[in-house]
Amino acid sequence: MPALEELEAAWRQHSASEAYWDEVYHLLETYVGRPSRLYHARRLSDAVGAEVYLKREDLNHTGAHKINNCIGQAILARRMGKTRLIAETGAGQHGVATATVAALFELPCEVYMGAQDVERQALNVERMRLLGATVRPVHGGTATLKDAMNEALRDWVTNVDSTFYLIGSVAGPHPYPWMVRELQAVIGHEARQQFREQVGGLPDALIACVGGGSNAAGLFAPFVEDLSVRFYGVEAAGQGIATGRHAATLGAGRVGVLHGSKSYVLTHDSEAQLGQIAHAHSISAGLDYPGVGPEHSHWKEQGRAQYLSRTDDQALAAIELLARTEGILCALETAHAIAALPEVAAAVRQGERRGRVIVNLSGRGDKDMVTIARRRAEARQGEAELTTAPATDERSRS
Ligand SMILES: *Cc1c(COP(=O)(O)O)cnc(C)c1O
Repeated sequence: MPALEELEAAWRQHSASEAYWDEVYHLLETYVGRPSRLYHARRLSDAVGAEVYLKREDLNHTGAHKINNCIGQAILARRMGKTRLIAETGAGQHGVATATVAALFELPCEVYMGAQDVERQALNVERMRLLGATVRPVHGGTATLKDAMNEALRDWVTNVDSTFYLIGSVAGPHPYPWMVRELQAVIGHEARQQFREQVGGLPDALIACVGGGSNAAGLFAPFVEDLSVRFYGVEAAGQGIATGRHAATLGAGRVGVLHGSKSYVLTHDSEAQLGQIAHAHSISAGLDYPGVGPEHSHWKEQGRAQYLSRTDDQALAAIELLARTEGILCALETAHAIAALPEVAAAVRQGERRGRVIVNLSGRGDKDMVTIARRRAEARQGEAELTTAPATDERSRS
């Protein structure tokens, strides 16, 4: 608690000062490349039946929205006099973004990562090391993200005088969900102003994928008072909700406590493990978390936002749709939001008039090419087997 209280006091102090935000916005502009574009995707619009505007977070330095948050927390760390950054990472994307700002701010950086993930994500481990960070494999528990987060919390309470713990989403204990939302809200503030200037008025709906929920919260938050604007968060249904192999925390989880916040979580139903945190599954590593930010749970229960889910296969089909219509290769996480477009388009259409929708394009797809290529090769092999099967039958008949 003392560590969290110190952080909350510092956040209240610095986030109330213009000098802090000047420093944040200066780096977002000169280093990250903000503001990111709001792009009217005309061919995708025709394909899904809504006027679709893409908020291009994929064009940021490092290729996703995570850097917005890391810049803001690193500046706070320096203002608090902290001399060391720590972070936890699952797939490595938040670890890479943290290692990036650590290099920029000349701060030593240690990243906790489940030993299993260290093996699966060799490229991101190499990226972090190249950027000067130390990667610490965690062998306890299931040796994945949840265990890495436990280990990072342990490090933090031991070294709190020198150390700043940089959390990557709107999850974890207060004040993180609030702080990360405020730092990602640059997405929604820009989108609101760009939409007014380029199109006029307000959009009918916003769509974003939800892992921990930071890119969605950042887009939604500045529109919360605009009740005509509907919010759609899209979770990962993995191999299908019914299989149990998914990450649809809000869609299929229950209320519980994980890593210091009360929110929806995925838990086991079997008597032996009743209430224990379950494993999340998704083709996209960034959505593969058994919890979700508490504010999304609040928005769900208020009815302010609706939460949908899309499967691995639907996400892969959406990657292809966006690629073929707009020439943009998005991340697998982002593809879940694209896959929800036809349903949202139908919900916001008014007779002949198409609805106007902003989709948060949270990241680019380069990091996922190996996964995508493997799945496409498997699909081609499946098709080949299907087409050769009847031919064999015919031969045997003749
Ligand atoms: C990490 C990541 C996500 C999921 O994180 P949120 O906190 O839910 O935004 C989504 N998209 C991309 C590209 C990511 O890297």
